[in-house]
Amino acid sequence: MNDEKHSIIAAMSIRPRIDRESRTLQVMFKIYCRNKHGNQVELCSSCQELEDYSLDRLDRCPFQEGKTTCANCPIHCYKSDMRARIRAVMRFSGPRMLLAHPILTVWHYLDNRRKKPFKPGVSAETSIK
Ligand code: SF4
Repeated sequence: MNDEKHSIIAAMSIRPRIDRESRTLQVMFKIYCRNKHGNQVELCSSCQELEDYSLDRLDRCPFQEGKTTCANCPIHCYKSDMRARIRAVMRFSGPRMLLAHPILTVWHYLDNRRKKPFKPGVSAETSIK
C-alpha cells in the first residue's frame, strides 16, 4: 500500500497516530532487512522478531495517540537489548526513507517535534512527572 492510501486509512482510523507509526516501523524494517540481510520480500527471523516486539510495544504504549516518538519517550518500555537493536534499525533506515516514503517521513519528523508525551484524557502538564 502506498503512503497516500495509508494516510487516508490512518486518517479514518480511531488510532491514526499509532497506525501511522506501525506503518513507519514496517517500512523501516523492510529497508533495513533488505539492505542488511538481502531479503526482498519477507523479513528474516531476527528482524521479524524485533518488528513483532516493536509493534506489540506500540500497541501497549500507555500514551497511545498522545505519544511522542519512542526516542523522546521518558519511559522507554523496550528491554535494553531490544532497544539497542531498534536504534540500529532507525539509524540505518531513517535517512533512507525520505525518497521512497516522503509522506511518512514528514509525519515522523512532525511527530518527533513533540518532546513530551501525554496520556489521553489527562492534561499534558500532569500526565508526565
Ligand atoms: S518507548 Fe515510550 S512511546 Fe515508545 S512504545 Fe514504549 S512507552 Fe510508548
